[in-house]
Amino acid sequence: EMKKLVNFKEKLTTTQDGRQLSIEANIGNDNDLVAATNSSAEGIGLYRTEFLFLGKQHLPTEDEQFESYRKAVFRMNGRPTVFRTLDIGNDKQLNGIELPDEENPALGIRGIRVSLSADQLFRTQLRALIRASSYGEISIIFPMISTIHEYRRARKIYDEERAAMKRDGQNMGSVNLGVMIEVPSAALLADEFAKEVDVVSIGTNDLVQYIMAADRMDSRVADLYQQLNPAVLRILKYVVDAFHVEGKSVSICGEMASSRLAVPLLVGMGVDCFSMNSDSILKIRKLISQIDSKYAKKIVNDVITNAATSDEVVQKLNDFLDKI
Ligand code: PEP
Ligand code: MG
Repeated sequence: EMKKLVNFKEKLTTTQDGRQLSIEANIGNDNDLVAATNSSAEGIGLYRTEFLFLGKQHLPTEDEQFESYRKAVFRMNGRPTVFRTLDIGNDKQLNGIELPDEENPALGIRGIRVSLSADQLFRTQLRALIRASSYGEISIIFPMISTIHEYRRARKIYDEERAAMKRDGQNMGSVNLGVMIEVPSAALLADEFAKEVDVVSIGTNDLVQYIMAADRMDSRVADLYQQLNPAVLRILKYVVDAFHVEGKSVSICGEMASSRLAVPLLVGMGVDCFSMNSDSILKIRKLISQIDSKYAKKIVNDVITNAATSDEVVQKLNDFLDKI
């Protein structure tokens, strides 16, 4: 099994019927970056920048951030790198920024809400990222976006920083700007977001939590945290279709992207890029090579039209996987 997986290192990510997809890595630190290139990631699909901030005595300076970002872009050597701006909340506290105590941190001040309320922190991070873009094309995505208005506010701040840096003669490359779709309100406005953003990544870890109203960290509701509930699948398909209408490719960076059961459905929906922890890359590349995307699409249509429960979906997927 291991020996066969190694063969997938040199290969592109291609379905059985020849559709070319890509598999990228989720990373949070330098070790993950090394693992990503060693396991033949086709890019960094999600750089969780909060790991540069956590467990530090002080907030990282612009220069310190720039060094880390530059290192990732440099090491990816032309392959795409998607940076997510700081995604913290009351559940992940930082030294150097005060967040209020909250009854319900998952619904409070986190992600882009923190960045928009801590202007200097946000601008510092954006400047570090813009500087890193002179070493290769990058994307910047904002986490926990609930409204178009938040995206426009974030983009305006980005535009201001970029313009100021340009006036100062700073080198910079092109940057794609976009959002994580991980809040149901954003998912259901995917057609509107698709008109305004350059790039998108679906964060299923949070999206499932908010669709199912089941805390992703709470084992008592783990049975309700159903990635394969038809409600989740309908929303995912809606999001993928909406971005494709605008000609924009769709990435998935939650755990579903590396789930053996979920991947056939995601391929069938037409997801273009799968971003995951590096140790899953070869396994999923192999699985994708065994999937006929046209057949997978039929399964998607079947479960979206006919399945009422997660169990029914799992049953159909197990039948499918047994045959490959
Ligand atoms: C997600 O929500 O799916 C995601 C990829 O981000 P995180 O797990 O860091 O919240
Ligand atoms: Mg998330």
